[in-house]
Amino acid sequence: MRNNEIADIFIKSNALLKGHFLLTSGKHSDQYFQCAQALQYPDITTKICGELSSFYREFSIDSVIAPAMGGIIVGQETARQLGKRFIFTERENKEMKLRRNFKIEEGENFLICEDVITTGGSVREVIDIVEQNGGNVVGVGVIVDRSNGKIDFGYPLKSVLKLEAKAYEPDECPLCKQGLPLVKPGSRKVFQVME
Ligand code: ZN
Repeated sequence: MRNNEIADIFIKSNALLKGHFLLTSGKHSDQYFQCAQALQYPDITTKICGELSSFYREFSIDSVIAPAMGGIIVGQETARQLGKRFIFTERENKEMKLRRNFKIEEGENFLICEDVITTGGSVREVIDIVEQNGGNVVGVGVIVDRSNGKIDFGYPLKSVLKLEAKAYEPDECPLCKQGLPLVKPGSRKVFQVME
């Protein structure tokens, strides 16, 4: 798929909203991205993850692993398309762990999947878990890369879409200066703005 075709899918499914948003950080932004909005439609998930599975098809991958919650749908669908096993990590008392009796074999090759990366913290924790258990990381596949090219995991990184993370301090926000109403993502108002 072309980049604008991919962006179009996210806009049409309300995953990517344009407007004037108050982020949880307190900063303002002209866009808001909620990956789950796109992934609620299995046919869209199939298309999006197809970008990751086709990129990694020729790599030597035994299994796919992803951090919960965000990475689970991406990891599951990408693994399904590759015909591989899928496991996930999850937080217990803030610490990322491999639970549910999931096992990593010595020398097992893993593709790591995630929905969105900004700082890449969760993916780094999964890399550590794979390596501490004797597995190998082959690559990382994400739906959206918001890192502005600042992340280097030390492994191949494939993203379906790169979104520049633009955020402003409230007193420097150009959208405030234009008098655009500020909306908090998750509130009904977001959709009123979109209409
Ligand atoms: Zn503003």
